[in-house]
Amino acid sequence: MPSWVPSEETKPAPMPLLLVQSFVNTWDGDRGSDLLLDPAAARDWLTQAGLWSTESAPDPAELHLARGAREGIRAMLVANSGGPPPAPGDLQPLQAVVQASRPALQVGPGGQVTLGPDPADQPGAGLLTLLLAIRDAQRDGTWPRLKACGNPDCRWAFYDRSHSRAGAWCSMATCGNRIKNRKLRQRHRLPEHVACGRRVRPSAEPRMIRCSVAGRPGFGLRWHL
Ligand SMILES: [Zn+2]
Repeated sequence: MPSWVPSEETKPAPMPLLLVQSFVNTWDGDRGSDLLLDPAAARDWLTQAGLWSTESAPDPAELHLARGAREGIRAMLVANSGGPPPAPGDLQPLQAVVQASRPALQVGPGGQVTLGPDPADQPGAGLLTLLLAIRDAQRDGTWPRLKACGNPDCRWAFYDRSHSRAGAWCSMATCGNRIKNRKLRQRHRLPEHVACGRRVRPSAEPRMIRCSVAGRPGFGLRWHL
């Protein structure tokens, strides 16, 4: 796996979509880390990924745009997972990238026609490379398989290789079970007594409970379930 792919990646996308996936995963909700927050860390990662070609680190405005583009892509991946479509504001940074840089069509020595960013278009060139990878994936049918984890605290980008295309979690062992357990706990949460908030074990028959609301200490209230 290339050095710019997170070491814990268990569901990598094929190239060049892996580039988009790893870009989205520069934000790690589990660790609370963001590689696009610090200029030097961002330059190192973007350079390794081939998305940055100058010695100088991105300035605050460039980093802001990169983070906005990343969250725009993440919103698209949430939609790929069956979530809501991206809000217009989510895609605005990506539209800004497109307006600021123009792709260049080139014919290689073997007659291979390629579309890529104009090298003079820094800093938007790297982000345009990602958009072109998304365009290709949308055409070849691999795009819907790149999804954001169903755990709202995680949203890790993962590639769903399952036959059913119904994968919902970056990892069933972590996020899948975490959400399942959370739902289970919510389902089994004991109902709260309206007056004192005490949780009462459900029972088939109405019964008296001891309510400790101020002004009514020790008062027995009827609790219907
Ligand atoms: Zn997850």
